[in-house]
Amino acid sequence: MTGFVSLRAESQSGNFVLFTKRPPPPQSPPLAGGKLAPLSPPACRGEACPPPVERGELSHFVKFAKVLQRKSVFFCVNLRPRKSMSGNEITVTIAKQEQENGMSLKFTKHTAEVFVPDQTPMAEALERTTHMAIGAHQDDLEIMAFDGIMQCFEHEERWFCGVVVTDGSGSPRNGLYANYSDEAMRTVRRQEQKKAAVIGEYTAQVLLDHSSASVKDKTNPAITEDLIRLFQATQPDVVYTHNLADKHDTHVAVALRVIEALRRLPTAARPRRVYGCEIWRNLDWMVDDDKIAFDCSTHENLQMALLGVFDSQISGGKRYDLATMGRRRANATYYASHDMDTSTGMTFAMDLTPLINDTDRAISAYVLEFIERFAQEVTKQLERLQ
Ligand SMILES: [Zn+2]
Repeated sequence: MTGFVSLRAESQSGNFVLFTKRPPPPQSPPLAGGKLAPLSPPACRGEACPPPVERGELSHFVKFAKVLQRKSVFFCVNLRPRKSMSGNEITVTIAKQEQENGMSLKFTKHTAEVFVPDQTPMAEALERTTHMAIGAHQDDLEIMAFDGIMQCFEHEERWFCGVVVTDGSGSPRNGLYANYSDEAMRTVRRQEQKKAAVIGEYTAQVLLDHSSASVKDKTNPAITEDLIRLFQATQPDVVYTHNLADKHDTHVAVALRVIEALRRLPTAARPRRVYGCEIWRNLDWMVDDDKIAFDCSTHENLQMALLGVFDSQISGGKRYDLATMGRRRANATYYASHDMDTSTGMTFAMDLTPLINDTDRAISAYVLEFIERFAQEVTKQLERLQ
């Protein structure tokens, strides 16, 4: 493949930076993990001429495809690739100029924070996100979204972004933490979440810092607005959040805000898959055909490390770490009654993608369909055996 590649994309300012991945010159040391060489000044044959190309990281191919679907700016790049280049090596990606310039994300709470463990500039860290998990509390992501963390761990082109919506100030406390004020608990829980982000090598950990009450207040638009800004900056391919049959009000409220935010995005900017995961009430009750089953057999050490850093919740007597590992083991063993265990850990999720693809679909009716299928399965079994 030689010559011009035509690209279409959009941004608020109309400015883009283009990158292409090229093989390193012979005799030179190999470039680390997808480093990019600058393109020569691009020749433009379209309506808008792109700015000079700068150096940057290769982004995920899916993101590139998504940008292409938007089609509002047109420009051309002369790639001049070598004959030996494979399909991957001629991947071209587009990043918004304003993000490269360190565009600051404005959240509704001025105390919100974006923590980037490897100190990559914030905009770049958010932009490289491929998997995103959004949970109500510090520790929810590590309990429900280990699949996403593991999919990205030590993977060159996949990055996990964690989002915690509440501030942790109302957390239960005991033992060492019994006399901590709400503000001290907030600080401790924030710190614990950052420790998890370091262990799990997240691209970023976003702490939106809302009160639980404001998350549950359905007249409050702030959480949905914050999430829309985040989705625009990250454009994840896969999103994990709470399932809609969870018994914790704040969890369900977060899932509803996530769905609302995703529905308000342009179709092309929505993730490919959205999963509702288990914490307070597992999803073993769903019929097997409805279960999204994630294999969590590997890296038990990492799983335990990620769960174990939340000392302020565990040391008071709630062994979320042991309970979560036990549930993963139980899910794997009880998933199939006749087969030998091929997996030693499993988490289940409810597929929420249809609610994002069809923005008119009633949410409660959708959840009731899962319950109805469970009821039918139990009824049929009893009728068959009675
Ligand atoms: Zn929670």
